[in-house]
Amino acid sequence: MDRIYSPWRSGYFDSKMCGCVFCEISQNAQDDEKNRVIYRDGVCFGVMNLYPYTPGHFMLIPHKHCDCPSLLDTKEWQHIHMLSQKAFDVLYEYGASGINMGMNIKQAGGAGLPEHIHLHFVPRYLGDTNFLTSIADARTYGIDFDSVFLKIKTLCTKHFTRG
Ligand SMILES: [Zn+2]
Repeated sequence: MDRIYSPWRSGYFDSKMCGCVFCEISQNAQDDEKNRVIYRDGVCFGVMNLYPYTPGHFMLIPHKHCDCPSLLDTKEWQHIHMLSQKAFDVLYEYGASGINMGMNIKQAGGAGLPEHIHLHFVPRYLGDTNFLTSIADARTYGIDFDSVFLKIKTLCTKHFTRG
């Protein structure tokens, strides 16, 4: 499926002024490797969460800067969820036994960056139920983040671009 329209371009100058981290990533494809971007198309991009709940935690984020899904075009929302179906296959192939998918809307909803919506995909592994108590220790940060990034990126290319 080819998407040739580029709705994020119209917001370029606005978001340059807003200083939004996700807009910065959206608009700087040349920095995708540095920013750990795993996928991008005309509607959205995928990026590794720099503070993962579990190894492989990534997000799908619309290019459009908005703080609620109701502000997206229906087609944009549907596109992101079309990809989300494939994201499950990405994480299963990565090794997940289960997945948490979700979006925190606005500050009161618990969003870490409330001004720009992002859909979380948190892979779960059998036996990871204690991860919340050990999230700050070496168990989480001891993994090789770059190798996780490259593996997830490869799997996203494989699954997201299939018909
Ligand atoms: Zn933004």
